[in-house]
Amino acid sequence: MTELSTRDAWRAVLGELQLQMPRSAFETWLRQTEGVSYDDQYFIVEAPTPFAVAWLERRMYQAIQKTVEKVVHRPLEVQFQVRGGESISSVRATNPADQLLEADAPPTGRAYETQYDPPSFHPRYTFDSFVVGSCNELAFSTAQVVADSPGQCYTPLFLYSGVGVGKTHLLQAIGNEVLKKYPNKKVLYVSSEKFTNDFIKSISSNRTEKFKYTYRGADILLIDDIQFLAGKEGTQEAFFHTFNDLHQANKQVVLTSDRQPKAIPALESRLVSRFEWGMTADISAPDLETRAAILRTKCKERNYELSDETITYIATQVQNNVRELEGAINKIIAHHQLNGAAPTHDNIKKILVSITSIQRKRSITPKQIINLVSEFYDIKIEDLLGGCRKKIFSQPRQIVMYLMREELKNSYPTIGQEIGNRDHTTAIHAHLKISQVIDEDEKINQDVKLIKEKLYN
Ligand code: ADP
Ligand code: MG
Repeated sequence: MTELSTRDAWRAVLGELQLQMPRSAFETWLRQTEGVSYDDQYFIVEAPTPFAVAWLERRMYQAIQKTVEKVVHRPLEVQFQVRGGESISSVRATNPADQLLEADAPPTGRAYETQYDPPSFHPRYTFDSFVVGSCNELAFSTAQVVADSPGQCYTPLFLYSGVGVGKTHLLQAIGNEVLKKYPNKKVLYVSSEKFTNDFIKSISSNRTEKFKYTYRGADILLIDDIQFLAGKEGTQEAFFHTFNDLHQANKQVVLTSDRQPKAIPALESRLVSRFEWGMTADISAPDLETRAAILRTKCKERNYELSDETITYIATQVQNNVRELEGAINKIIAHHQLNGAAPTHDNIKKILVSITSIQRKRSITPKQIINLVSEFYDIKIEDLLGGCRKKIFSQPRQIVMYLMREELKNSYPTIGQEIGNRDHTTAIHAHLKISQVIDEDEKINQDVKLIKEKLYN
């Protein structure tokens, strides 16, 4: 039987799924997904936002996986990733961890030597192409130290930040640099999902020795988005032992996460303390000057010229993350190519409308917030707006009120009215309450961030 192309396979999967679910859900969550690649184990699917990825994983995983297996006629694991994020699949193609795990040779030093093939990092993710500002100075310089002398100063190096401000870039820059400087060092680069999957697979196929051997044989272990180990006890255990072995042998571990170690929910305290052993550095959102400098660098990389005025204009409008800045430039270049002329200021303004949250805010309605929160927490709208005081309903209800105040600047009486005809003091209380909770409870903070992100996408 001939193999379906990824595109055709995913199209067939979508065709099937469309019949199984409400149209609105399909349009919202699946319409914009794409099949990226598949091999003997994984089918990689891209979705436009972390929110969509989380939703698909949480709500649709089984249905999607079953359908994928039906279409490609073999057991496969589905993995979701955010579009524009690091391509797990392209790294996987030559991932030494895979080669070592799959190989049948016994796990001896020699075997490691002969089977190890360095991972391919994104050539664009280097220290040279990384723009340094006060927001990322510490992360940048510690990453450089680690790449210069792996295993000597910061083990582990723990980098954390919100989305799209350069964690993966720096992690891969370390990989690129080490391979250049120390071609003989064994570098392993994996997402924490991959680490988890490898571990689970090793148990089910009785290859735990191989798993141990593969990961503990690395000179440098780079793991992206370690927060996904949250709640996975077995994998945390495996990581704990891996980490200890590497640490003892003076090997380098670098981890990234969307939050600091102690804010990762359901992470064993012994791991939290391991993560804090070495160096933790955060990256914050770039300020205006850094955003402008990033835009200049990106233009140069693309051989495209923009006036200082335009650069400043974009940097003022697009504030959220660097990925959005790149998105703006890509759109401007695409516009130029399509129309054969540089976009005018008005064109650029229009282009940015789709990117900037300021503009997007205007079109957001209370109803969208209500729908989104109801979807996110998987509770019915009647319950969300109803009178039940159970926390599973009351907290999301307060989040709706909070977002209406913060994002829409609605008055308290209006908010009360929209949320089941409540008194304005309820809205005031809800806003206060969630403002506090966000400071204290990293999980809720993250939930609200994800909901906001989705709101503006
Ligand atoms: P994260 O992993 O934190 O979500 P990424 O590393 O994927 O973010 O960064 C998103 C995009 O922005 C990437 O294309 C990356 O190259 C770019 N980027 C982020 N920060 C910088 C920076 N300081 N200088 C240059 N490019 C950056
Ligand atoms: Mg990343």
